[in-house]
Amino acid sequence: MNRIHNFNAGPAALPLEVLETAQRELTDFKGTGMSIMEASHRGKAYDAVHSEAIALYKELLGVGDDYAVLLIQGGASQQFSMVPMNLLGADEVADYTDSGSWASKAIKEAKKVGKVNVIADCGKETPTRVPRADELEFTPGAKYLHITSNETISGAQWRQFPEAPEGTALVADMSSDILSREFDATKFGLIYAGAQKNLGPSGLTVVLIKKELAAGAPANLATMLKYSTHLENDSLYNTPPCFSIYIFGLVLKWIAAQGKENLYARNVAKAAALYAAIDASGGWYRGAAAKEFRSDMNVTWRLPTEDLENKFVAEAKKAGMEGLKGHRDVGGIRASIYNAVPPKAVEDLVAFMAEFKRVNG
Ligand SMILES: *Cc1c(COP(=O)(O)O)cnc(C)c1O
Repeated sequence: MNRIHNFNAGPAALPLEVLETAQRELTDFKGTGMSIMEASHRGKAYDAVHSEAIALYKELLGVGDDYAVLLIQGGASQQFSMVPMNLLGADEVADYTDSGSWASKAIKEAKKVGKVNVIADCGKETPTRVPRADELEFTPGAKYLHITSNETISGAQWRQFPEAPEGTALVADMSSDILSREFDATKFGLIYAGAQKNLGPSGLTVVLIKKELAAGAPANLATMLKYSTHLENDSLYNTPPCFSIYIFGLVLKWIAAQGKENLYARNVAKAAALYAAIDASGGWYRGAAAKEFRSDMNVTWRLPTEDLENKFVAEAKKAGMEGLKGHRDVGGIRASIYNAVPPKAVEDLVAFMAEFKRVNG
């Protein structure tokens, strides 16, 4: 087997154990004589997969029956539209924070639906960062506040979440850091995440929603875009992305088996090792995010020149490390170190960074 160190931003590394289980079960899922991909989404075998994944997601996030888990398609990008379409009337206001690429895409879609108040904007600051909770000035009566918990492209992450005032729901795009660290999910009205960073394969978007929030959509909203449709039908109104949900379930079981506390501590240690390597380089490697807001999931940095950055990416690839090229919008280097990226991958990258600087610095 030749598994490389995978630092892709998304789709991203999956736990090897998950892939091996899927491989074992691929042609005969638990004695059914068929793959789970070939099974009816209304049948017994799939039903167990579906409901176990939902139950475990709620358990890992520590939420009760006042929340529902919706398994939808369309990516996190579709949630940029579904959130305002369901929660925001044309004359109502939603507060948004702008922290960079993903937040600004969410803002763009919300503006098509209702009134948007950008109550903190640091999307274009360098070094990059997200707003501080105490910088926010809420709009009285705002239906919800939307934040992007981790800016995957720039590598900045909310370290402490804001608390929305009574009557304003807290909504977060957690596509790239859901289940990577401990936080109080019960403070949120809605959390959405495209699965392909930390939860599984692409094709699935996981929405955790406080049930009371699903009721407010306008009657003429398209059936498939209504949260209430998915809630009332247990995400089985139509055919769900069965195989992605199956892998999602395996990833959740893997998280539970690691012990999420251990996994979260491991995430902190991995990020700390990379940032230490950057900071120990005497400015040769320059972290792209302000220190206070450095992401534990997407570590971004620059080298003295773009030529050196290209060389770094090319030589790392030769050394068995892929996915290190920064997003095309911002350049530089990005190491995405989600839950499934083992500490050994980070150790090898740190060693490679030291050697690369010794030779080229
Ligand atoms: C990747 C990503 C998205 C877009 O996800 P899609 O599933 O490709 O639509 C949105 N927000 C964040 C924070 C992301 O990391």
